[in-house]
Amino acid sequence: MKDMQDFLDLLKNPDYRSRYLIAKRTGACLACGSKVLSLRDASARLEYEVSALCQECQDRYLGAGTRASSLKDGEVELPEGKIRHLRGHNKGKD
Ligand SMILES: [Zn+2]
Repeated sequence: MKDMQDFLDLLKNPDYRSRYLIAKRTGACLACGSKVLSLRDASARLEYEVSALCQECQDRYLGAGTRASSLKDGEVELPEGKIRHLRGHNKGKD
């Protein structure tokens, strides 16, 4: 997958650390350099803390969009990134 290779190249770049620090200081994206204006949810904000990628680049490199659509029927992705099975969750029986 080419995008993932781009991302790995980015991580291996000798300038990575300084680019990361600059991105975080200026509220910009490490990969594309644009201002990070909005992040989708708590996990996207956490991801920005970790990787300094904007929403678009998170989706592109980390595949957040594909991951959400790969959930099976009856599953929902929690903000922490965990997958919860809704079926079989019987409150009275636990
Ligand atoms: Zn970006």
